[in-house]
Amino acid sequence: MRSDHRDDADEATTESNENRPSVVELADVSFGYTSTPVVEDISVSIDAGEYVAVVGPNGSGKSTLMQLLLGLLEPDTGTAELFGVDATAFDDGARVGYVAQRAGTSREMPITVREVVKMGRFPHVGFGRLSAADWRIVDRAIDTVGMSAFADRRITQLSGGQRQRAFIARALAGEADLLVLDEPTVGVDTESVDAFYGLLDSLHAEGITVLLIEHDLQAVTEHAERVICLNGEIYFDGPSAEFTDSAALARA
Ligand code: ADP
Ligand code: MG
Repeated sequence: MRSDHRDDADEATTESNENRPSVVELADVSFGYTSTPVVEDISVSIDAGEYVAVVGPNGSGKSTLMQLLLGLLEPDTGTAELFGVDATAFDDGARVGYVAQRAGTSREMPITVREVVKMGRFPHVGFGRLSAADWRIVDRAIDTVGMSAFADRRITQLSGGQRQRAFIARALAGEADLLVLDEPTVGVDTESVDAFYGLLDSLHAEGITVLLIEHDLQAVTEHAERVICLNGEIYFDGPSAEFTDSAALARA
C-alpha cells in the first residue's frame, strides 16, 4: 500500500512553496464520444482550496468535463493534470472523493449504508481490515450527512435522496483533498440540501478543494466562490458574485 498522501503533500510544500502545482490543470482540452466534440478547447486551472461550481444547460458537457479532469476519460487533444500529474495516470485515490451524477439511483447493491461508506476508506487500507480509527471516520461521515439512524439499513431500502447522502458520506470518509460532486443534491429534500451546503462550506473552510456541478443557481452564488459556465466551451469563468445567468446566456 502507498504511504499517507499527506506526507507527500508536506514534502511538496517544503520543496517549492511558490511552484505548488494546482489541483486541476486543463490545457486546450477537446473531447468527443464520437467525431463530434462535446467539449472544445477547455483551459481551466483550479488551485488548492478553491470552491468552484460548474453550471450550464443539460448536455453542455459538465459531467464529461469532470470525468476528463479526473482522468476517467482521456482528452482527444490537449492535456489534463490532476495534482501535477497526467490525470489518466493518476492513481492516488485517497486524494479524490467523487460522487458521480445519479450515484443515488443505483438500486443494485443490497448492502448497508455503513458498507457503502466503508468503501471510502479502501484507498487508505486497501481491501484489508479497517482499524477502529477508520470505523470512527466512517461513523462520523454517516453522522455528518444525517444518516446515523439508517447506518445498518440496506441502500436498496432507502429513498433516492438518502442513497445520495450515503454516497456523499463515502466520499467524505475518504478524507480527500479534492471533492468532485456531480449534481449531488438532485432528489435530496430541501432541509438536507441546506445541511449539505453547510457541510461543504465547513469543508471548504478546512481547506478542501470543492468542485461541484449544480443546477440551482441560487445555491451556486450563495456558496461557491467561483463559477464556470459551460456550453461546450467556457462562457464564463470568474467570481460567483459577478456571475449572472443573463450575462452567460447572452454569450451562449
Ligand atoms: P451535462 O453533464 O452537462 O448534462 P454531459 O457531459 O453528460 O452533459 O453530456 C454532454 C454530451 O455528451 C451530451 O450530448 C450527451 O448526450 C453526450 N454523452 C454523454 N455521455 C456519453 C456517453 N457515455 N456516450 C456518448 N455520448 C455521451
Ligand atoms: Mg451531467
